[in-house]
Amino acid sequence: QTPNISINDFEWKKYIGRGNFGKVAKVVKKDSKKVYAMKLLKKKGFSRKDIENAMTEQRILMKSDNPFIVKLHSSFQDESNLYYCLEYIPGGELFKILKAFKKFTKDQTRLYAAEVILAIEYLHNDIKTIYRDLKPENILVNYDGHIKLTDFGLSKMSLQGTSFCGTPYYLAPEIILNKGHGKEVDFWTFGCLIFEMLTGYPPFRNRNQNILFNLIKKVWKFN
Ligand code: ADP
Ligand code: MG
Repeated sequence: QTPNISINDFEWKKYIGRGNFGKVAKVVKKDSKKVYAMKLLKKKGFSRKDIENAMTEQRILMKSDNPFIVKLHSSFQDESNLYYCLEYIPGGELFKILKAFKKFTKDQTRLYAAEVILAIEYLHNDIKTIYRDLKPENILVNYDGHIKLTDFGLSKMSLQGTSFCGTPYYLAPEIILNKGHGKEVDFWTFGCLIFEMLTGYPPFRNRNQNILFNLIKKVWKFN
């Protein structure tokens, strides 16, 4: 917890994102007039696992110091919520930019992919963390066109994991098969991301989750 700071020190502007447990809002710090993105997690309904994930998210944000990872300004809580005050990234999600462009050129893809892999390598090597939720919604684009990775809500501060977690389209086969997994799952989703940037669609897609998972598992059989 950052001492001597609370939600009353900020003025709310507008909501910019929404997730499972909370919201992200654009806020202005009253004294400095600086703009931030405030991620708020509602404590109500939190399971033991959710508390663990929230604590991990905070620890990773506090530890990380990399040009391609969003920076934490402060974190605090009150009776109802946990708050992460993050640097505000004005360009929005890579997801929305990709939807507008339909697909990226090889040069655009190369730049974004290079920056994403630098962030992932930093997490693996310096923070000893598996990211586990790489997707265009969690990659933000800054005012200068460079990317910032955000959302460590599913990350694991260890290079080995067992939980079934991630986003269905981008799940690696070993996660679906519950075989235990390592940092390779980030390379799997990195491959999915490159495919999606070049074509506009994730490589495995089906509205029916069982069919989707079977498509992904087929790849496992080839190995
Ligand atoms: P969740 O765990 O609920 O997915 P995220 O951390 O991914 O939460 O935040 C949800 C959305 O809020 C993001 O996809 C993005 O659109 C927006 N967002 C998050 N952090 C920032 C930030 N630092 N600057 C600007 N927008 C942000
Ligand atoms: Mg997210």
